[in-house]
Amino acid sequence: MTYEVRGLVVRTVDLSGSDKLLTILTAEHGLVTAVANGSRSLKSRYLAASQLFCYASFVLESRRDRFWVREVELIESFYELRLDIVNTALANYVCEVAGDVTVPEQPDPEILRTALNSLYAIANNKYPLPVIKAAFEFRVAAMLGYLPELSACLLCGATEGEMLLDVMNGSVVCSECHSSVERELPRHEDDFAARTRSLLCILTPASRAALQYILACPLERLFSFRLGAEDMRHLSHAAEEYLLNHLERGFKTLQFYKEVASGNP
Ligand SMILES: [Zn+2]
Repeated sequence: MTYEVRGLVVRTVDLSGSDKLLTILTAEHGLVTAVANGSRSLKSRYLAASQLFCYASFVLESRRDRFWVREVELIESFYELRLDIVNTALANYVCEVAGDVTVPEQPDPEILRTALNSLYAIANNKYPLPVIKAAFEFRVAAMLGYLPELSACLLCGATEGEMLLDVMNGSVVCSECHSSVERELPRHEDDFAARTRSLLCILTPASRAALQYILACPLERLFSFRLGAEDMRHLSHAAEEYLLNHLERGFKTLQFYKEVASGNP
């Protein structure tokens, strides 16, 4: 039995010989793993489309409890992603996250589109990488159901000024309310208070406005915002904390991206 799917290769693992196990994020069937049999006499087109970051149309055959790639037609290779180590590192992170938050047989076309848009933006150097990364992280978190309420302080209803994003509650608290809550904390905080406090991220007015934009804009305009360095720093920090804490995990590809982006590979 054969299936035709369109998808993005988010992971490849070398198997014995020249076979590769591809993890493909598809719109129709969620995450699909399939063996690309390299020992057959393959056209170069086939090999080129079986690499990480390739978006392609695959004909898969179901046999012996596995899918096997029978035919493949490349749609987009995102070739430029491979020309710069920092771009490659961020693309790897995008693919690892996309593969982590999707599962087999649960179609999630929005996650796929967001990953594709992000790869396209990275490949074409259209936007600063921190903008792409933060927008991707918050948008994915929102698509998974972790949509923060940002319009007003949870405690007093204030709508202006600097706020603190309460990561796990998905709400914001203004600086004044936060200060008064802080004063009421016991002198020697217990572990719980310390941990809770560490999950508050500063959102300046501009970074909060950018976050509201990210969560509401059409996907094709996801990266069309600009922030000054300080505001961007707060948004980046909040985006990463928000996604990782809700997913309850870290990513090796993220660690590597941060190393190469800061010039310390
Ligand atoms: Zn308040």
